[in-house]
Amino acid sequence: MFINGEWCQAESGKKFGVINPATGEGIGDVADGGQVEAERAIQAAHSAFGDWSSMTAYERSEILYKAYKLMSTRREEIARTMTVEQGKPLRAAMNEVKYGADFLLWYAEEAKRVYGETIPAPRGDQRFIVLHQPIGVVAAITPWNYPASMITRKVAPALAAGCTIVLKPAEATPLCAMEIFKILEEAGVPKGVANLVTGSDPKPIGEEFVTNPLVSKITFTGSTETGKLLARGAADQMKRVSLELGGHAPFLVLKDADPVFAAKGAVLVKYLNTGQACICPNRLFVHKSGVEAFTKEFVSRVIKMRAGNGLEQGINIGPLVSEKAIEKVERQVEDATSKGAELLCGGHRLMDDGLDRGYYYAPTVLSNVTSDMLIYREETFGPVAPIIAFDDDDDVLEMANDTHYGLAAYIYTQNLSAAMRTFEGLRFGIIGINDINPTGAAAPFGGQKESGLGREGGHEGIFEYLETKLGGFSV
Ligand code: NAD
Repeated sequence: MFINGEWCQAESGKKFGVINPATGEGIGDVADGGQVEAERAIQAAHSAFGDWSSMTAYERSEILYKAYKLMSTRREEIARTMTVEQGKPLRAAMNEVKYGADFLLWYAEEAKRVYGETIPAPRGDQRFIVLHQPIGVVAAITPWNYPASMITRKVAPALAAGCTIVLKPAEATPLCAMEIFKILEEAGVPKGVANLVTGSDPKPIGEEFVTNPLVSKITFTGSTETGKLLARGAADQMKRVSLELGGHAPFLVLKDADPVFAAKGAVLVKYLNTGQACICPNRLFVHKSGVEAFTKEFVSRVIKMRAGNGLEQGINIGPLVSEKAIEKVERQVEDATSKGAELLCGGHRLMDDGLDRGYYYAPTVLSNVTSDMLIYREETFGPVAPIIAFDDDDDVLEMANDTHYGLAAYIYTQNLSAAMRTFEGLRFGIIGINDINPTGAAAPFGGQKESGLGREGGHEGIFEYLETKLGGFSV
């Protein structure tokens, strides 16, 4: 753990093991912290807040810029740690480290652009001035699926704004988090400003985050269930919250789309990180006029995918994170086939060539999926693509919106009016139009409905860590 500028063990001396999901082998032991360490880290962040928030934005920017340079230089080293710890193929891990470093660069720049406002006041002898000031101590919790970028997406804007932070990474991926905190230390982040608390049990750490009055803000990325729990806890002290939660992305291939072009995009984004991304399509709605061509192209690409250890060349499907993740996928596929879905490929665990040591599931395609199936309603978080044929572009908008999630959605069409109408009608926060990757450090990322609150990235991202203050002056 990294608390108050020092690397340390848990007070209990306990450690927990980290496992490579591709091989089931242990790859390291990490300090098993809990409530005591979380409290100590919050205290350190509280003590550091005064000096850090008083530094000029230029000074904070310079430190973040150094961190960006270090992360960029160590891109491959961090990517290798990520592949071994999380399982994604090395090329995807390299992309993630670049994406993660981009947040350090973007917020090194945005630190200098926290502009206030003067507003015409209602009285002639009055002046209104609006300031933005750092919220205070931030407690952050991140998931395992993007173990580097989900950290910098929170740490960079928080530090740029002048906040101090305590971060708890997912128990499956503490090693990537340690790499990032080493970079922050080397970049010159003063002691206590950024703290890392690792632990095998998230509950006592989360409990301390929500109950400790020194914490002003909770920022969380993970499941909707945990997000609600934290939001309920935070409400007692009216702490600020930002929540990046689950998704159930619809992928719409409208009547005027090129179904083959759409299928090429759909395969890439569906199997991104073996389906373990919050923006992965979960429901592929294809107009009946194109469904045959779409399905043929889609399946022909899926059957060529190679599963294996992400450190090897040519691998595009890594392992799932755990046995539990495999069971969820198996349950959804069984349920769908028992209710009439057709299994076009995959549909089983991968056991050959040593894959039985890891958590591998074959990339799977189901057609004839209907609204009574679990997969139609639940986030999958695995390599299963359900194809649903539809008759009418207007009906499909309703079908796509018929979920309590609202994170990402995709529209494929060559008809500009249909694209615009559907873009405006979808109740989702991030929409790709003939595009499968509408993300970047400069763009606001976040969900509507039960997919979350607030935005990360873009110029909005820094305001999640700032309070607005109005000054009314009589002159
Ligand atoms: P999860 O909610 O189980 O865990 C996420 C984090 O919360 C981990 O660090 C975990 O240790 C911690 N946690 C779990 N229970 C906790 C508790 N009681 N108190 C405090 N902390 C607790 O989610 P997961 O399965 O690790 O992550 C996958 C989920 O994350 C998916 O639903 C996915 O859609 C979502 N996700 C969303 C985004 C986004 O930007 N919207 C990005 C990535 C992942």
